[in-house]
Amino acid sequence: MNHKTDPNGLVSLAGFDVRLVLKKVRRVTIAVLPPFGEVRVTAPVGTPQATIEAIVSERRAWIENKIAGFPADPGKERRYGEGEYALLWGRRLRILPRVGTPGVLLVPEGMILSARTDEPKKRAAALEAFYRKEVQTEAQKLLPVLSAMTGLSPSKLTVRKMGRRWGTCYHREGTVNLSLSLAAYPPACLSYVLLHELLHLRYPDHGRDFHAALDRYMPDNRAVAAELNRLHRLSSAAWAEE
Ligand SMILES: [Zn+2]
Repeated sequence: MNHKTDPNGLVSLAGFDVRLVLKKVRRVTIAVLPPFGEVRVTAPVGTPQATIEAIVSERRAWIENKIAGFPADPGKERRYGEGEYALLWGRRLRILPRVGTPGVLLVPEGMILSARTDEPKKRAAALEAFYRKEVQTEAQKLLPVLSAMTGLSPSKLTVRKMGRRWGTCYHREGTVNLSLSLAAYPPACLSYVLLHELLHLRYPDHGRDFHAALDRYMPDNRAVAAELNRLHRLSSAAWAEE
Protein backbone atom coordinates (compact mmCIF):
# COMPACT_ATOMS: atom_id res chain seq x y z
CA MET A 1 0.00 0.00 0.00
CA ASN A 2 1.38 3.37 -0.95
CA HIS A 3 0.38 5.98 1.60
CA LYS A 4 0.86 8.85 -0.81
CA THR A 5 -1.65 7.57 -3.32
CA ASP A 6 -4.07 5.59 -1.18
CA PRO A 7 -6.51 8.07 0.35
CA ASN A 8 -7.75 5.46 2.83
CA GLY A 9 -4.35 4.19 3.89
CA LEU A 10 -2.56 4.31 7.19
CA VAL A 11 -0.62 7.47 7.84
CA SER A 12 1.45 8.63 10.75
CA LEU A 13 -0.13 11.76 12.23
CA ALA A 14 1.03 13.45 15.41
CA GLY A 15 2.67 10.20 16.49
CA PHE A 16 -0.39 7.98 15.92
CA ASP A 17 -0.92 5.35 13.23
CA VAL A 18 -4.06 6.78 11.71
CA ARG A 19 -6.48 5.33 9.16
CA LEU A 20 -7.24 8.49 7.21
CA VAL A 21 -10.51 8.56 5.28
CA LEU A 22 -11.07 11.50 2.96
CA LYS A 23 -14.65 11.99 1.85
CA LYS A 24 -17.49 14.43 1.42
CA VAL A 25 -17.99 15.47 5.02
CA ARG A 26 -18.14 18.95 6.56
CA ARG A 27 -15.59 18.58 9.32
CA VAL A 28 -12.80 16.43 10.69
CA THR A 29 -13.92 13.67 13.07
CA ILE A 30 -11.81 11.26 15.08
CA ALA A 31 -12.84 7.80 16.31
CA VAL A 32 -11.01 5.04 18.16
CA LEU A 33 -12.51 1.76 17.00
CA PRO A 34 -12.86 -1.81 18.18
CA PRO A 35 -11.65 -4.49 17.92
CA PHE A 36 -8.10 -3.20 18.04
CA GLY A 37 -8.32 0.43 19.13
CA GLU A 38 -7.54 1.71 15.66
CA VAL A 39 -7.57 5.50 15.26
CA ARG A 40 -9.71 6.60 12.32
CA VAL A 41 -9.82 10.19 11.12
CA THR A 42 -12.46 11.27 8.63
CA ALA A 43 -11.78 14.56 6.90
CA PRO A 44 -13.27 16.59 4.05
CA VAL A 45 -11.59 15.92 0.70
CA GLY A 46 -8.81 18.44 0.13
CA THR A 47 -8.07 19.22 3.79
CA PRO A 48 -4.33 19.93 4.09
CA GLN A 49 -2.49 17.23 6.06
CA ALA A 50 -1.07 19.90 8.39
CA THR A 51 -4.60 20.97 9.36
CA ILE A 52 -5.61 17.37 10.09
CA GLU A 53 -2.43 16.82 12.06
CA ALA A 54 -3.10 19.92 14.18
CA ILE A 55 -6.60 18.65 15.02
CA VAL A 56 -5.29 15.19 15.90
CA SER A 57 -2.57 16.79 18.00
CA GLU A 58 -5.12 18.90 19.85
CA ARG A 59 -7.13 15.80 20.77
CA ARG A 60 -4.05 13.79 21.80
CA ALA A 61 -5.13 13.30 25.42
CA TRP A 62 -8.60 12.12 24.40
CA ILE A 63 -7.19 9.68 21.79
CA GLU A 64 -4.61 8.26 24.19
CA ASN A 65 -7.27 7.83 26.81
CA LYS A 66 -9.51 5.98 24.34
CA ILE A 67 -6.68 3.71 23.20
CA ALA A 68 -5.83 3.02 26.82
CA GLY A 69 -9.40 1.77 27.23
CA PHE A 70 -8.64 -1.13 24.90
CA PRO A 71 -5.74 -2.81 26.66
CA ALA A 72 -6.95 -5.20 29.29
CA ASP A 73 -6.57 -4.37 32.92
CA PRO A 74 -3.22 -6.07 33.63
CA GLY A 75 -4.70 -7.57 36.78
CA LYS A 76 -7.51 -9.14 34.79
CA GLU A 77 -6.94 -12.56 33.35
CA ARG A 78 -8.46 -13.90 30.19
CA ARG A 79 -11.11 -16.48 31.06
CA TYR A 80 -12.66 -17.11 27.63
CA GLY A 81 -15.96 -16.52 29.37
CA GLU A 82 -19.05 -14.33 29.46
CA GLY A 83 -18.38 -10.75 28.41
CA GLU A 84 -15.14 -11.57 26.61
CA TYR A 85 -14.35 -11.71 22.91
CA ALA A 86 -12.41 -13.86 20.50
CA LEU A 87 -10.96 -12.87 17.14
CA LEU A 88 -11.74 -14.83 14.00
CA TRP A 89 -10.39 -13.84 10.57
CA GLY A 90 -10.16 -10.20 11.62
CA ARG A 91 -13.57 -10.03 13.25
CA ARG A 92 -14.20 -9.71 16.95
CA LEU A 93 -16.89 -12.09 18.23
CA ARG A 94 -18.56 -12.20 21.62
CA ILE A 95 -17.86 -15.46 23.46
CA LEU A 96 -20.93 -17.41 24.61
CA PRO A 97 -19.48 -20.05 26.93
CA ARG A 98 -21.14 -23.48 27.32
CA VAL A 99 -20.31 -26.77 29.00
CA GLY A 100 -20.50 -29.67 26.57
CA THR A 101 -18.69 -31.33 23.70
CA PRO A 102 -15.62 -29.16 22.99
CA GLY A 103 -16.07 -26.99 19.95
CA VAL A 104 -17.07 -23.68 18.45
CA LEU A 105 -20.34 -22.75 16.79
CA LEU A 106 -20.73 -19.39 15.08
CA VAL A 107 -24.10 -17.75 15.69
CA PRO A 108 -25.40 -14.25 14.93
CA GLU A 109 -24.72 -13.16 18.54
CA GLY A 110 -21.11 -14.31 18.45
CA MET A 111 -19.31 -17.58 19.09
CA ILE A 112 -20.60 -20.43 21.24
CA LEU A 113 -17.46 -21.83 22.87
CA SER A 114 -18.02 -25.23 24.45
CA ALA A 115 -15.67 -27.18 26.68
CA ARG A 116 -16.01 -30.18 29.00
CA THR A 117 -15.77 -27.95 32.06
CA ASP A 118 -15.95 -24.20 32.62
CA GLU A 119 -12.21 -23.93 33.34
CA PRO A 120 -10.59 -21.17 31.23
CA LYS A 121 -7.80 -23.48 30.09
CA LYS A 122 -10.32 -26.00 28.71
CA ARG A 123 -12.08 -23.25 26.79
CA ALA A 124 -8.74 -21.92 25.54
CA ALA A 125 -7.90 -25.42 24.29
CA ALA A 126 -11.27 -25.70 22.51
CA LEU A 127 -10.68 -22.34 20.81
CA GLU A 128 -7.16 -23.36 19.78
CA ALA A 129 -8.44 -26.62 18.30
CA PHE A 130 -11.00 -24.61 16.32
CA TYR A 131 -8.34 -22.14 15.13
CA ARG A 132 -6.13 -25.03 14.04
CA LYS A 133 -8.95 -26.53 11.96
CA GLU A 134 -9.82 -23.13 10.45
CA VAL A 135 -6.22 -22.45 9.40
CA GLN A 136 -5.86 -26.00 8.07
CA THR A 137 -9.04 -25.69 5.99
CA GLU A 138 -8.19 -22.27 4.58
CA ALA A 139 -4.56 -23.19 3.90
CA GLN A 140 -5.68 -26.30 1.99
CA LYS A 141 -7.85 -24.06 -0.20
CA LEU A 142 -5.03 -21.58 -0.80
CA LEU A 143 -2.31 -24.11 -1.42
CA PRO A 144 -3.34 -25.25 -4.94
CA VAL A 145 -3.61 -21.60 -6.02
CA LEU A 146 -0.24 -20.59 -4.59
CA SER A 147 1.40 -23.79 -5.85
CA ALA A 148 0.12 -23.20 -9.38
CA MET A 149 1.45 -19.65 -9.20
CA THR A 150 4.89 -20.43 -7.82
CA GLY A 151 5.45 -24.04 -8.87
CA LEU A 152 6.19 -24.83 -5.21
CA SER A 153 4.43 -27.23 -2.90
CA PRO A 154 5.44 -28.51 0.52
CA SER A 155 5.94 -32.19 1.27
CA LYS A 156 3.87 -31.58 4.39
CA LEU A 157 1.84 -28.68 5.75
CA THR A 158 1.04 -28.58 9.45
CA VAL A 159 -0.74 -26.08 11.66
CA ARG A 160 0.42 -25.79 15.23
CA LYS A 161 0.65 -23.57 18.23
CA MET A 162 3.79 -21.50 17.74
CA GLY A 163 5.50 -19.11 20.06
CA ARG A 164 6.58 -15.93 18.36
CA ARG A 165 6.44 -16.95 14.72
CA TRP A 166 3.68 -17.05 12.14
CA GLY A 167 5.20 -19.82 10.12
CA THR A 168 8.34 -21.83 9.51
CA CYS A 169 9.78 -23.68 6.56
CA TYR A 170 12.27 -26.54 6.68
CA HIS A 171 13.42 -26.31 3.11
CA ARG A 172 15.55 -29.47 3.21
CA GLU A 173 12.58 -31.59 4.31
CA GLY A 174 10.22 -29.43 2.27
CA THR A 175 7.83 -28.96 5.18
CA VAL A 176 5.89 -25.84 6.10
CA ASN A 177 4.34 -25.07 9.49
CA LEU A 178 1.76 -22.38 10.13
CA SER A 179 0.70 -20.82 13.41
CA LEU A 180 -2.88 -21.58 14.44
CA SER A 181 -3.11 -17.95 15.67
CA LEU A 182 -3.38 -16.81 12.05
CA ALA A 183 -7.12 -17.60 12.33
CA ALA A 184 -7.48 -14.45 14.43
CA TYR A 185 -6.36 -12.07 11.66
CA PRO A 186 -7.72 -11.04 8.25
CA PRO A 187 -7.45 -13.83 5.63
CA ALA A 188 -4.86 -11.90 3.60
CA CYS A 189 -2.43 -12.43 6.49
CA LEU A 190 -2.66 -16.22 6.09
CA SER A 191 -2.14 -15.90 2.32
CA TYR A 192 0.94 -13.79 2.96
CA VAL A 193 2.48 -16.14 5.54
CA LEU A 194 1.79 -19.24 3.43
CA LEU A 195 3.32 -17.61 0.33
CA HIS A 196 6.29 -16.42 2.39
CA GLU A 197 7.00 -19.92 3.72
CA LEU A 198 6.44 -21.57 0.32
CA LEU A 199 9.03 -19.26 -1.23
CA HIS A 200 11.53 -20.41 1.39
CA LEU A 201 11.38 -23.84 -0.31
CA ARG A 202 13.25 -22.10 -3.17
CA TYR A 203 14.99 -19.26 -1.31
CA PRO A 204 16.06 -20.29 2.21
CA ASP A 205 16.95 -16.78 3.35
CA HIS A 206 15.41 -13.31 3.09
CA GLY A 207 17.73 -12.20 0.31
CA ARG A 208 17.01 -10.11 -2.76
CA ASP A 209 15.67 -13.00 -4.83
CA PHE A 210 13.28 -13.96 -2.07
CA HIS A 211 11.87 -10.42 -1.85
CA ALA A 212 11.71 -10.04 -5.62
CA ALA A 213 9.59 -13.22 -5.82
CA LEU A 214 7.39 -12.09 -2.95
CA ASP A 215 6.83 -8.72 -4.66
CA ARG A 216 6.00 -10.43 -7.92
CA TYR A 217 3.40 -12.84 -6.49
CA MET A 218 1.94 -10.48 -3.87
CA PRO A 219 2.70 -6.84 -4.64
CA ASP A 220 1.23 -5.59 -1.35
CA ASN A 221 3.09 -8.13 0.80
CA ARG A 222 4.87 -5.44 2.85
CA ALA A 223 1.61 -3.74 3.76
CA VAL A 224 -0.01 -7.08 4.69
CA ALA A 225 2.99 -8.07 6.84
CA ALA A 226 2.97 -4.68 8.57
CA GLU A 227 -0.78 -4.96 9.15
CA LEU A 228 -0.43 -8.45 10.65
CA ASN A 229 2.20 -7.26 13.09
CA ARG A 230 0.25 -4.13 13.95
CA LEU A 231 -2.97 -6.08 14.61
CA HIS A 232 -1.02 -8.60 16.65
CA ARG A 233 0.34 -5.84 18.89
CA LEU A 234 -3.18 -4.54 19.43
CA SER A 235 -4.83 -7.94 19.83
CA SER A 236 -3.55 -8.62 23.33
CA ALA A 237 -6.35 -6.33 24.43
CA ALA A 238 -9.05 -7.28 21.95
CA TRP A 239 -10.58 -10.01 24.13
CA ALA A 240 -11.64 -7.80 27.01
CA GLU A 241 -14.99 -6.18 27.46
CA GLU A 242 -15.03 -2.44 26.66
ZN1 LIG B 1 10.95 -16.02 6.30
